[in-house]
Amino acid sequence: MFWIRKPASGNRKMKSNTDREKLIEVKELTVRYRQRNGFGLREKTVEALKDISFFIHRGETLALVGETGSGKSTIAMSILHFVSPDSGKVLCSGEDIWKYKRAELRAYHRKVQPVFQNADESLNPRLKIRLALADAVDPTLSSEEKSLRLRDCLSSVQLNEDILTRFPHQLSGGQKQRVCIARALATGSEMLVLDEAISSQDLSLQAHLLKLLLELKKKLSLTFFYISHDLETVRVIADRVGILKDGRLIEIGDKNEIFNSPKESYTQLLLERSRF
Ligand code: ADP
Ligand code: MG
Repeated sequence: MFWIRKPASGNRKMKSNTDREKLIEVKELTVRYRQRNGFGLREKTVEALKDISFFIHRGETLALVGETGSGKSTIAMSILHFVSPDSGKVLCSGEDIWKYKRAELRAYHRKVQPVFQNADESLNPRLKIRLALADAVDPTLSSEEKSLRLRDCLSSVQLNEDILTRFPHQLSGGQKQRVCIARALATGSEMLVLDEAISSQDLSLQAHLLKLLLELKKKLSLTFFYISHDLETVRVIADRVGILKDGRLIEIGDKNEIFNSPKESYTQLLLERSRF
């Protein structure tokens, strides 16, 4: 594939955990939402994230686990520059993404791409797949390079080129989600933010998509921020795992530490529940 990135210089040697590059660093992040009640009369403030700090090394998969409403998507949205912090920072390679100028932000959005749970909401029903993908490809590429990249994207998610002429409703759920992954790759991205990206698929399809994601990560030297409420998929894909509860990051560590010797009783509870 022509857009495969080489590892950043200096990465050839195995680096220890302490000197690896922090691609993303979240520092003391607090996010509040103002919510109105049903009649729009009263306003209350919900603190969705409370003083969250963690980092994501280049090339790793950090998984974030937590129940519905714990703030997982809000962290994803902050990293994607869609939800601004009330306090704290999100850094990419040491630079505050909220201080980016327009061109830097555009580059950042190409570099860090989301894949959401619901492919139907992510794909415009009126656009054929060719257009949905072409929109994501770097407009400065020549038309030859663009179609080469489209073909590469499709083959990397194991989709046949004949789907280019179809509309989203003419694809299966699994095919649509693979189109979403292909589109996230079409920008030449370095990192995917996978927010419950495979959660709505049936179990065999989940296994297939997990395998595909692992292959893609290796082939393209990607970094993953993998969000899920499902510990079983996390066990397969993660290098490190963070546990979120009521907007607080209560525990974070290597996958084996979290799964084999969790420190927090809440993590133990999540693990016990996932065994049934
Ligand atoms: P999760 O992804 O873990 O389910 P979210 O980040 O979506 O959690 O939500 C965290 C909290 O913030 C919840 O209490 C939710 O109701 C609230 N929330 C999320 N998005 C918004 C929004 N756009 N406006 C108001 N409140 C929100
Ligand atoms: Mg969510």
